[in-house]
Amino acid sequence: MNNALFVGGIVPMTTVDYPDHISAVIFMQGCPWRCIYCHNPHLQSILLTESLPWEDILGLLRERIGFIEAVVFSGGEPLAQSMLPMAIADVKRMGFLVGLHTAGTDPHMLTRVIPLVNWIGFDVKHSFGEYHLITGVKGSGETARRSLEIVISSNIDFEVRITLHESIEMSLLLDLFKELSDMGVKKLILQKCRDKDEFVVEHPIFSDRLILEDVSKYFDNFYIR
Ligand code: SF4
Repeated sequence: MNNALFVGGIVPMTTVDYPDHISAVIFMQGCPWRCIYCHNPHLQSILLTESLPWEDILGLLRERIGFIEAVVFSGGEPLAQSMLPMAIADVKRMGFLVGLHTAGTDPHMLTRVIPLVNWIGFDVKHSFGEYHLITGVKGSGETARRSLEIVISSNIDFEVRITLHESIEMSLLLDLFKELSDMGVKKLILQKCRDKDEFVVEHPIFSDRLILEDVSKYFDNFYIR
């Protein structure tokens, strides 16, 4: 087990990464998955030679007490880091709310940290049986499903986001929406996929208003981003 924290970057102040609160975002280095549309490929490898020192990050956050209300752990994939519980505890002790952006790559680590987390943005990639088509990793759908069940049963505030790659079959997508609703997801956000040049490659569902209206009925809150 690696006893270092690998941090790829930090945004010291943002209004869009934690609902209704000004936050800082810490981008953790490393992710076990290889999504075909990943926009942070530089954060995928854990082999970062120049991680930002954790003490420096805590110092920066200390200077922002009173200006920001929350700290969001993003990535990469925060759950991939063995020292994440310590990092979250450090931030919590400073009085900040804690947010977690995760794809649920490690249910065991999620179980460890979730008691300290106030809000989760959970990324779903595909129908759980076909996850590997996006992540490149067999079994990733079962892992993500287990993690989502942990989030739902924790009763903390969360939202599910799906980046809709054009390759996802409509029938599988409609089954996925129903499954998420049955599992207890109340807030769903559909995100348009961008290619490596930042051009939107729109999934056909976005031009079908009737289907979108139907999908919206499954959830208390339903947004398109
Ligand atoms: S889970 Fe997130 S960080 Fe990891 S490869 Fe997929 S999009 Fe990139």
